[in-house]
Amino acid sequence: YAPLAEIDPEVKNIIDKETWRQFTGLELIASENLTSVSTMEANGSILTNKYSEGLPAARYYGGNEYIDELEVLCRKRALKAFNLDPAKWGVNVQPYSGSTANFAALTALIQPQDRLMGLGLPDGGHLTHGYYTAKKKMTASSIYFQPVPYGITPDTNLIDYEGLAAQAKIFRPKLIICGASAYPRDWDYASLKKTSEAVGSFLMADIAHTSGLVAAGTLNNPFDYCDVVTTTTHKTLPKDLEKRVNDAVFPACQGGPHNNTIAAIATALLQVSQPSFKAYAKQVIENARTLASELVGHGYKLQTGGTDNHLVLWDLRPLGLTGSKVEKVCDLMGITINKNAVSGDASAQVPGGIRLGTSAITSRNMLESDVKIVADFLHRAVQLSLLLQKEAGTKMLKDFVRVATVQTEGKEGYVKV
Ligand code: PLP
Repeated sequence: YAPLAEIDPEVKNIIDKETWRQFTGLELIASENLTSVSTMEANGSILTNKYSEGLPAARYYGGNEYIDELEVLCRKRALKAFNLDPAKWGVNVQPYSGSTANFAALTALIQPQDRLMGLGLPDGGHLTHGYYTAKKKMTASSIYFQPVPYGITPDTNLIDYEGLAAQAKIFRPKLIICGASAYPRDWDYASLKKTSEAVGSFLMADIAHTSGLVAAGTLNNPFDYCDVVTTTTHKTLPKDLEKRVNDAVFPACQGGPHNNTIAAIATALLQVSQPSFKAYAKQVIENARTLASELVGHGYKLQTGGTDNHLVLWDLRPLGLTGSKVEKVCDLMGITINKNAVSGDASAQVPGGIRLGTSAITSRNMLESDVKIVADFLHRAVQLSLLLQKEAGTKMLKDFVRVATVQTEGKEGYVKV
């Protein structure tokens, strides 16, 4: 029962350093947020000790009476958070992550080597939606199924719903997947439903990025149109598919659920159901819109010109910069972002943009006025990247570490240590 600092000071030290990094930096990664202390308490609890393969009241191990109570509570809260009728919808909260949830959904809905269509990765889709390259099928969704990606229109960078419908008519997929990792606009689920009905396919939405905004009612509701909805830590499905999905999660794709994670999901879902969460979700979107308009105000190019959700996709190519350079400079400034492909990139390996998200800074109670300052920091980071590129050629140098102190406006120079 000795504390971690005593038992394993090495790991404790790493945790402390990461805590410091998170507390002192600006977190702008669109797929991250700051978990509440109560959720972390549940996640680090004694529930991690228990094995509970199966479902409530149908387990393969004894001693699961409290685990059953927990899972039933978590499922109830998931349905409530998304305002779903328990008579019509079932939910499985056991997947270890979004990727396993997606693979379980594919396993439940279609057969090996069946065809599927998802948004292409370079256009904002996720690896688990059928990604492959000309050289290699490197994801389970392309190794075990036959995918053909749909895309965005080159002029607007919005989902090409007409092209998708035409493609589906020829390709006849068994499953259409919507949802994305880097798409700043809302989805037209009604149009997708029309296409999936026309070709007789299932329609699945992966709302890993936007589930909070969907639960708060600030984005279109996929549950009105989709057969299955997945998200990063749990999934929701209609009753007639419930058994198929449950069997696909366990035993097809997983063994024992992580009960500590289920407890953490339950606690997070309780927070989602509070009236204050709606205000939070609204603020996330307001902050993203402010960030977008400030960057456009600085003369920068954003994919689709703005945002409907929590993320902004910034096309750096007109500046002659790559996303990785700006990511590195931002790291040195204590701003965490990620390089991201933008439409028309020759290769996803050398992305021409960066992705920004406002979920975590909104959790720190930042408002539009704060976001304007954040946008100014990013403006400086990009100007500094340009300056460094000019001075150092294309080689980004690690020894320029004091970049946060460098003001680019009106000054030519940087601090070298
Ligand atoms: N689906 C989408 C849209 C995502 O953005 C992600 C995360 O990158 C995933 C699924 C995978 O989730 P996880 O990393 O939890 O497996």
